[in-house]
Amino acid sequence: SYLNRDEPGASHHRDKGCAGCNRKIKDRYLLKALDKYWHEDCLKCACCDCRLGEVGSTLYTKANLILCRRDYLRLFGTTGNCAACSKLIPAFEMVMRARDNVYHLDCFACQLCNQRFCVGDKFFLKNNMILCQMDYEEGQLNGSFETQVQ
Ligand SMILES: [Zn+2]
Ligand SMILES: [Zn+2]
Ligand SMILES: [Zn+2]
Ligand SMILES: [Zn+2]
Repeated sequence: SYLNRDEPGASHHRDKGCAGCNRKIKDRYLLKALDKYWHEDCLKCACCDCRLGEVGSTLYTKANLILCRRDYLRLFGTTGNCAACSKLIPAFEMVMRARDNVYHLDCFACQLCNQRFCVGDKFFLKNNMILCQMDYEEGQLNGSFETQVQ
């Protein structure tokens, strides 16, 4: 939603007080956002405390929080779909990346034997599947990946 800045003259609604601190707004300017009035200092991002009172700036609301764009995307945006389980990954979650794929931490395991990888472990991508070294090499030897995988 967009912010409006009311000029001092048109202020019959000032008596209602600020939606942030409940005190009357005696400042020269007040902000209107979400159908409420705010002190310029009271309309802040719930996460980073940055002021949202710039004219024309966009603020985001979700679950009763008022957020700046950056925090909104961080909290409620998504990184993409997990290449293993295909579910959306929220932007705040840690992910593993392999080439262009992203994975939940929990999903980043060999897709044949479910072995998890530790830092420094080798993993391989074959037919867009993550594989441990053993399964990868086994597949290389008998060339049977296409039939092993459903
Ligand atoms: Zn206030
Ligand atoms: Zn913020
Ligand atoms: Zn996943
Ligand atoms: Zn494996």
